[in-house]
Amino acid sequence: MRQRLRTFFDSLIEPWFPTSCVRCGDVGGSPCRSCREDLSPAHVLGEIPQLDDVVALVAYDDVSRPFIADLKFHGGWSTVRALAPALAVLLDETVGTDRPGPLLTWAPTTPDRARQRGFDQAEVLARALASHSGRPVRRLLDRRPGLHQTGRTRQERSRGVQFEPRGPVAGAIVVVDDVLTTGATLSAAGHALRRGGASAVVGLSLAATPEHSKD
Ligand SMILES: [Zn+2]
Repeated sequence: MRQRLRTFFDSLIEPWFPTSCVRCGDVGGSPCRSCREDLSPAHVLGEIPQLDDVVALVAYDDVSRPFIADLKFHGGWSTVRALAPALAVLLDETVGTDRPGPLLTWAPTTPDRARQRGFDQAEVLARALASHSGRPVRRLLDRRPGLHQTGRTRQERSRGVQFEPRGPVAGAIVVVDDVLTTGATLSAAGHALRRGGASAVVGLSLAATPEHSKD
């Protein structure tokens, strides 16, 4: 809660105390204009089971890593604010410009991690994208205890990330996450959303590693 208040306070005072870029230290947003230009677009992604389509904004590399870390560990309001407009354009290109369009949701982080940090980075991202693009957003998934939990059987651990729908789901859903590496998290989210009743699921990630690209 203290973290949540702090990030809220930071966002309020920002206009009078401009943000330093977490990568280069320049004042003027994070990423600053010059670091924004250094970001590489994500590769075209290969297919991921349970998803009808999957897209990412930027490549997860040495340029984007500090901003993703800022989002993950500090709530990264400036990163989210700087990149939400581009993410909204990517979303429009992927699902069309009709409003309200598909409902947005996110792949929740583990409850332990969300409690420790005071926020869930995927939720921060999904909510910023919803408010920027005028689309609805709702929490649709719960995360089952993950790999770091002790006391699970080996078989349970080997299944990896798993989600549960919180209730019935209808229509097309866009599920948001911060980084796509193997695609296992978004695939598991897609599986749970379909089980809940979703007719289509699109994955949208802020960043993606090149390993999952088509080329
Ligand atoms: Zn910079």
